[in-house]
Amino acid sequence: MANLLKLLYEEMYKDLAGSGKIAKLTELGKLLSDEIGRKPPWTAHHLNAVMMGYKNFAVTPDLETAIQALTGKRDGAHPLLAHLVKITAYSINGNVEPESVITGKSARCPGCLVLFVPHSNLQKYCSPQCPGRPQKRKAKAAA
Ligand SMILES: [Zn+2]
Repeated sequence: MANLLKLLYEEMYKDLAGSGKIAKLTELGKLLSDEIGRKPPWTAHHLNAVMMGYKNFAVTPDLETAIQALTGKRDGAHPLLAHLVKITAYSINGNVEPESVITGKSARCPGCLVLFVPHSNLQKYCSPQCPGRPQKRKAKAAA
C-alpha cells in the first residue's frame, strides 16, 4: 500500500525527486485527509515516512481508504466505490447477493442483541419475534 501512495504521488506530481516535495506532500496530505474528513490532516513528513517505508510508519486503514478514495476520484470511478470496506455479512434467504453494496447503517437489536441493517430508520428490532425478549429474560432471571 505504501507503493500505491508512491504511485499516486508520482501520478500527481510526476517526479519523486523533484523540487518542492514538502509543499506537494502537504497538499497531498490535505487532499487525502479531506477524503475521509480527517483533522488534522496528514503531514508531509508523515506521508514521506510512509512512502519511504520507515519503521512505525505503516499505511493505516484510514490512510488506505483515503488513498483508494483519491485514486478512484482521479480515475473517474463511481464515488461510492472509493469508500467501500469489505466485510463479512450474513444474508437471510439469500436476499442480499454476494458483492452487494450495503448502504444502510448497522443497528443492534435490543431484543436479541444481533447486529443487523434495518430496512428503515423506524425498524427497531431485527425480527417480529424480538420485541419483548429482554422482559422475558429478566422474568426468567428473577424466577
Ligand atoms: Zn433481534
